[in-house]
Amino acid sequence: MYSDSHIHTRFSGDSEELPENQAEKALMLGLEGICFTDHLDHDVVSDVDFELDVPAYWKYMTALKERYRGRLDIRIGVELGLQTHLAEYFTGLLAEYPFDYVIGSVHFVGGLDPYYPEYFRRYGKGAYLTYFEATYDCVSSLDCYDSLGHLDYIARYGGPYGLEYSYEKYADAIDPILRRLIEGGHALECNSGGFSRGMGGPNPVSDVLRRYRELGGELVTIGSDAHRSSDLGARFPECGEILCKAGFDRYVIYRDRKPEYRSL
Ligand SMILES: [Zn+2]
Ligand SMILES: [Zn+2]
Repeated sequence: MYSDSHIHTRFSGDSEELPENQAEKALMLGLEGICFTDHLDHDVVSDVDFELDVPAYWKYMTALKERYRGRLDIRIGVELGLQTHLAEYFTGLLAEYPFDYVIGSVHFVGGLDPYYPEYFRRYGKGAYLTYFEATYDCVSSLDCYDSLGHLDYIARYGGPYGLEYSYEKYADAIDPILRRLIEGGHALECNSGGFSRGMGGPNPVSDVLRRYRELGGELVTIGSDAHRSSDLGARFPECGEILCKAGFDRYVIYRDRKPEYRSL
């Protein structure tokens, strides 16, 4: 019985899903629980509004959690778009709202979202390396997150530009990120959204999950990154198998920013 620790709703600028639909889908699948993690990308320029109306989100999700009490373990989290200059902003936000869980994700590098061609036009062959270096800068200078979301998110989008990706190819850039996560007591996310976004597996790829374990990492979270309820909990059994093969026998879910262990 899994919990899904990465899901979006209409509170995210790129989702129209009702929170209730996500909760009902979780019940249908027999999940133990879900953690809502709507987008909050502060100080970015985008066609999509990635700011989060935190007061409205908090109020709505708190009421929803009450409605499902005893039937589904609902937790309230957030997916923060990491940028090094936002340290103070994050500290203030997290002091005001006691989220259960915070995903830190790198969605913008140099003001550009790799989802769009402009990012690849600017960085060319260095597109992946630039992303990993920006990720290292964020995870090493910020402490506001529990788990690093979809570490190789960039690899979802570089295929059409002829960029090839493997852990080995970028090991020198990825290892420092993994070491920093471990030193800081941060989890690494296994994001099953990679399966449906051209990765043929989770983000990050299994070699990165294995390397994190090999370096001493013990905290892995599992999330579908579902923007629609049809994707909730998708491919979790396969993620479980991949994690077991990578050397994990348990994963974590967060409450009050503290990890709770669950068997794989
Ligand atoms: Zn994300
Ligand atoms: Zn997400």
